[in-house]
Amino acid sequence: MAIDATRPYDPDNIFAKILRGEIPNKTVYEDEWALAFHDINPAAPTHILVIPKGAYVSWDDFSARGSNEEIGGFVRAVGHVARALDLVAPGYRLLANVGGHAGQEVPHLHVHLFGGRPLGPMLA
Ligand code: 5GP
Repeated sequence: MAIDATRPYDPDNIFAKILRGEIPNKTVYEDEWALAFHDINPAAPTHILVIPKGAYVSWDDFSARGSNEEIGGFVRAVGHVARALDLVAPGYRLLANVGGHAGQEVPHLHVHLFGGRPLGPMLA
């Protein structure tokens, strides 16, 4: 079920547990600002989730409360993952769902990184 993106951060959400090492994941990259791991239910040959280390519900929360350092570190981490996976030349897609209409299910900001095949037009 989609979440309300205006809710307070829930420290027991599944991605918080992944960050704390309580739930296993297939990590592809980690630094001071971000963790990137394979989506458990991939929608493309490459489907990576990149999450900030800080406690943010959504892109909205992060852009409002995140420090410039955190936001800069996170954006650089996303770019690094795409380059490390050789996705720049063939192309890739980034997507962040925010709240109910977008169908966000996990209440910790995550950017989906899709690649590995032509991805078709964006959905409306
Ligand atoms: P959302 O709809 O919130 O933008 O996307 C949540 C994503 O998290 C989905 O693509 C889903 O497959 C993925 N996901 C949910 N639970 C887990 C998990 O425990 N591990 C991993 N690796 N991905 C998860």
